[in-house]
Amino acid sequence: MIRLLINGSAGRMGRALIACAAEDPELEISAAVDVGDDFSASLVGCDAVVDFSHAPATASVAEACASASKVLVIGTTGHSDADRARIVRAAESVPVVFAPNYSVGVNTLFWLTRRAAEILGPDFDLEVVEMHHRLKKDAPSGTARRLAEILAEARGLAYGTDVRHGRAGMPGERTQTEIGMHAIRGGDVVGDHAVIFAATGERVELAHKASSRDTFAKGALRAAKWAATRPPGLYDMQDVLGLH
Ligand code: NAD
Repeated sequence: MIRLLINGSAGRMGRALIACAAEDPELEISAAVDVGDDFSASLVGCDAVVDFSHAPATASVAEACASASKVLVIGTTGHSDADRARIVRAAESVPVVFAPNYSVGVNTLFWLTRRAAEILGPDFDLEVVEMHHRLKKDAPSGTARRLAEILAEARGLAYGTDVRHGRAGMPGERTQTEIGMHAIRGGDVVGDHAVIFAATGERVELAHKASSRDTFAKGALRAAKWAATRPPGLYDMQDVLGLH
């Protein structure tokens, strides 16, 4: 039995995690923590923390887990580079799964995106499009960022310099090395992602659409069970699924 602390428990993902964990006989919720609750006091009685709260809170959560020797599954997205560095340091002491998306389908999309970029080569222009519900706070989504990173890795480009976010005014002709990135917001969309490979005369599109948050919740709970048997280190969902 693994005892879980759910951080961000009152949110959309927090509620899905609590509902899905209740159906898993290997898991027990030892604490449901949200704003105003005592995180440190709750940490004592758990084996693993699943954090789907708010990106600026996550680095401190990671450091607390490192000090208390607790497994950590990070679901938040939109971290600063400084916060990412703190998370990487914390993972030297405890197992940390840090994934922008916990769905099996999206992790398959990550794998397919790398293969398609390698096969299609530099003649194909690369564009990433994502759509999420109107309440999402960060943009582009962590999943879209990861898709662009994978494209950049496959092409020998860099996320920081080669991604072009949206286009407006007179951006000029598209260059062969830019990766276009577009974030759409509206309604209650759980999460849509598409990668477009466009050449002269043909186009390939890879797409994933999530229709329930349970897909992320079940993946994150699977990651917590997997990480509980691992040595300290930084892992992602590709590690959990054995896709590397
Ligand atoms: P939400 O706004 O519905 O819920 C967030 C909850 O966290 C709220 O209840 C809020 O009160 C709480 N919170 C805020 N700051 C906190 C703090 N310092 N300590 C404890 N709780 C705090 O958001 P959501 O849709 O559930 O998404 C939460 C996060 O998960 C976002 O970063 C989102 O991008 C991410 N997300 C990731 C995946 C994935 O697969 N990795 C999937 C969906 C959402």
